[in-house]
Amino acid sequence: MNKPLKQHLIDPEICIRCYTCEMTCPVQAIEHDDNNVVVNADLCNFCMDCIPVCPTGSIDEWRVVEEAYSLEDQYSWDELPEQAELCGDEADTGLEALDDAMATLLAEAHKGAGGKPKAPASASKPTINLYNLGKPVQAVVQGNYRLTAEDADSDVRHIILDFQGHPMPVLEGQSVGIIPPGADADGVAHLPRLYSVSSPRDGERPGYNNVSLTVKRETGGVCSNYICDLKTGDSVNVTGPFGATFLLPDDPDARILMICTGTGSAPMRAFTMRRQRKVGTVHGGMTMFFGARTPDSLPYFGPLQKVPTNLLEQHLVFSRQQGQEKEYVQHRMLKEKEAVADMLQDANSYVYICGLREMEAGVEAALTEIAGSFDENWQNLRDRMREDGRYHVETY
Ligand SMILES: Cc1cc2nc3c(=O)[nH]c(=O)nc-3n(C[C@H](O)[C@H](O)[C@H](O)COP(=O)(O)OP(=O)(O)OC[C@H]3O[C@@H](n4cnc5c(N)ncnc54)[C@H](O)[C@@H]3O)c2cc1C
Repeated sequence: MNKPLKQHLIDPEICIRCYTCEMTCPVQAIEHDDNNVVVNADLCNFCMDCIPVCPTGSIDEWRVVEEAYSLEDQYSWDELPEQAELCGDEADTGLEALDDAMATLLAEAHKGAGGKPKAPASASKPTINLYNLGKPVQAVVQGNYRLTAEDADSDVRHIILDFQGHPMPVLEGQSVGIIPPGADADGVAHLPRLYSVSSPRDGERPGYNNVSLTVKRETGGVCSNYICDLKTGDSVNVTGPFGATFLLPDDPDARILMICTGTGSAPMRAFTMRRQRKVGTVHGGMTMFFGARTPDSLPYFGPLQKVPTNLLEQHLVFSRQQGQEKEYVQHRMLKEKEAVADMLQDANSYVYICGLREMEAGVEAALTEIAGSFDENWQNLRDRMREDGRYHVETY
């Protein structure tokens, strides 16, 4: 019998096909087809470089096997196989391969990054991977509106895509892939980039089968410039929907704590609109800490002024506002320590963090301090919340 070996795999149900792992892997052990992203067991050297960059935790799957799953096996999966039972001592030897050093590495990689997430138990079942690289769906641009001031330092746009007769069943918190046309310098076709859906499940306009995105133009960026320059009537190739965990609980009494920066506001907009349309203003409460440099560069600043406080309690926080002290979301969370502590202690509270990866460290530090104020260890609480589907991070 073969000696058991540890195999690195990717969970196809959770993976959002952002290909970041593939681009990060230093030994080209990760590849994809139109369907799945997979790991070549012959090449993977367990360097762990791909673990912290994965926005979903789907990369963090391991099986002890007697014979490695082939690439063909992995390409055909809709879900990961269970850990097979191995026999006797050999199995033990194999399982020991997940040794202390590995556990430490993984824990380090997941520090603050969201770990392996779970959907809220009451969340609607998401559709995933309906359209893929080989079979994208064509949407037509219905609108492209600048959300930030003309002279603001960032160009963020509200893009409305009309799926016409094609089904695009997205839930709030899911993302879609946009395939930019053309190829890179080596002639390889551009890969899709992911964008969070910023409209609720019944559409930007209810019943019109359209979806909105919130896209920031990145200097030199292939896809963001392509999207930000789209004109009404243009056709766009779209993949997805992706994401099976960053979802809203279907419980009007649930309390929602949203922490975001920049385009991380996209799923929060979808959550807020869903609640408003589904249950109105009578619900467990929604609180948002939203950071930007200035009001001019905060996406949806104008529309947010019209959102009633009994629907959404807002803390808009600015780091470059003239005449004001620099403030980041974590600073405001600490100022509102008691309110945040109250939410963290409520078993029906759900936390969502979305935006630039750099925001995580400050937010983690604030949550650690706030949890300490009620004698709780934040890492333990965070792990319990994550296990309950109540702690969600999506940073990029
Ligand atoms: C789960 C998830 C959700 C996301 N949701 C959103 C969202 O809602 N909204 C959003 O805007 N983004 C979102 N993103 C990020 C998005 O997917 C893209 O990564 C982003 O738009 C940049 O893609 P790009 O093709 O424009 O840049 P790329 O071409 O991929 O370039 C990557 C970076 O390199 C820099 N760069 C490239 N070429 C040059 C050059 N010649 N000179 C200088 N700099 C250069 C670019 O500035 C860019 O920052 C999300 C990402 C993930 C993983």
